[in-house]
Amino acid sequence: ESDQLARDLTGKFRSILSIKRMDQLAARGAASRARTPPTLSASSRSIQSPPSYSSFRNAPSIPPPPSYSSLRNIPLVPQPPQDARSFRFRDLLHSLSNIPLRWEDSVLLDKALEVVPLEHIYDEAEQESQILQMEAESLGPGKRAAWDYQDCVIRALLRWFKRSFFTWVNNPHCTSCGGPTIGRGMAEPTANERALAATEVELYQCPACHNYERYARYSNAFTLLRTRRGRVGEWTNCFGMLCRALGSRVRWVWNSEDHVWTEVYSLHQKRWIHVDACEEAWDKPRLYTEGKLTTHKFIGWGRKLRYCIAFSVDGATDVTRRYVGNPIRHGLERTGAPESCLLHILDEINAMRRGKDTPEYRFKIEGEDLREQRELRHYVISTLV
Ligand SMILES: [Zn+2]
Repeated sequence: ESDQLARDLTGKFRSILSIKRMDQLAARGAASRARTPPTLSASSRSIQSPPSYSSFRNAPSIPPPPSYSSLRNIPLVPQPPQDARSFRFRDLLHSLSNIPLRWEDSVLLDKALEVVPLEHIYDEAEQESQILQMEAESLGPGKRAAWDYQDCVIRALLRWFKRSFFTWVNNPHCTSCGGPTIGRGMAEPTANERALAATEVELYQCPACHNYERYARYSNAFTLLRTRRGRVGEWTNCFGMLCRALGSRVRWVWNSEDHVWTEVYSLHQKRWIHVDACEEAWDKPRLYTEGKLTTHKFIGWGRKLRYCIAFSVDGATDVTRRYVGNPIRHGLERTGAPESCLLHILDEINAMRRGKDTPEYRFKIEGEDLREQRELRHYVISTLV
């Protein structure tokens, strides 16, 4: 009986998530639909249809909210690319900006949820958020919990994904004897691999039993739900899509030093949270740059970073300052394009992504942009201090 109850609850939870995503998509699409002239069939032309809510919202008598962009105070003026190097950088960023858009498929996101042990994640999140709430209350009246329920859902997803679901692959193990394998170059994709849109196939051989192993690289997050293995690209792609399936707003963060990770928007903290599935890291943005030796081991990567650019359905943001606290120690010279040109490229991507949004939605997103710019400036100021 309790199994039946759990199944019912899971079913309800799935449908709530699905409806929530549909509402978000509908809200984003409302403005573009309202601008399209209605097509009426001959028989219905004479029938007076009641005014729709969306046409009411877009009526010219109601002025749209003021654009925050007019209040921006950025010292650099965006400049279009002028030289070959800047054009190449622009092409690269435009192409990368498409990656998180591939997750936006309601049907596939619903299917993805079938793979996730929702009851388990739901329980863990409930427990953790209650503990955090009690901790906050014990500190005195008016204290807020560090994270709320939706944050805890993603934290539980992160633990499950890293510990129970996805596997890291350097060289695949021999499926015949279980031993290590040696790289033998690349192979042509088989028909099956091609059908799953493999981008490339690496070939490995077992030195003990001479068995060949193939390791196909897949860039489709939904295919990765089946293969459940990969390196940082596959990890981040699949995890980001699952965050989306669970109803969170997600960014895919590209780093020029060959790493990728995700950011998830916390409504509770009103900011983007760094989430690295490979490292099971939550809100540890300095993980890559700052390293310190503890009594047991070296924590952090101690790397230098040039660019960290976050892409989402809402556009692109240069979030490098979140990850590089001290540009003198951990930054690298930014050689992709002049800074004014980078601004122009990001503006271009934002304009593309936000062109069809409702004025209300754009207003909200631009408000978030402003808040984030303040947050990023604060990191630099606190470093200088
Ligand atoms: Zn073998």
